[in-house]
Amino acid sequence: MGISPALRPLLLNAVELRRQPGSSRQLATSVDPTELGCVSPVPDVGLVGEISIDLTAVSGADDIGVAGSLTMSWSGPCRRCLSDVTRTVAVGVSERFVPSGHPAVDDRVEAATEIEGDQIDLAPILRDLAVLEIPAAPLCDESCRGWCPQCGADLSLGECGCSSETTDPRWAALDGLVIDED
Ligand SMILES: [Zn+2]
Ligand SMILES: [Zn+2]
Repeated sequence: MGISPALRPLLLNAVELRRQPGSSRQLATSVDPTELGCVSPVPDVGLVGEISIDLTAVSGADDIGVAGSLTMSWSGPCRRCLSDVTRTVAVGVSERFVPSGHPAVDDRVEAATEIEGDQIDLAPILRDLAVLEIPAAPLCDESCRGWCPQCGADLSLGECGCSSETTDPRWAALDGLVIDED
């Protein structure tokens, strides 16, 4: 199966790295989220722009460690006030790849990914990490209070003066009524 040219920089030559324990390789590139195969689980929130990838692969005695970060931006409407929100987030990457037959492959504590063939394809791991950063309920700000359901005022800018209790219009007419207690 052919690999998209855009994803070719995400292939690490495992044979070359394993031949020289102690050697390392820098991987600095960027990739389009769609090319990477990112599918947002949230209908109106998605990744925008390119995902920038900054990783270092280090060849160990019996493994290859890949560490660094991904930086990406997502965009979507605030769940409370519906204003457009775009945020840039960075996520750490720390993965370990081992040759087949290595005990760490089945070790749940020391999880490692088996190297299949001569190359390590980082695309699936990076895709999963990027998709996890897409928020299910974006907020423009933790303190966003949304809109007043009665007058539509932006409550984050201050109180609008409406009663916080929901006024039932059927009782509103009675508000001005003075009841003679006698
Ligand atoms: Zn908001
Ligand atoms: Zn109001």
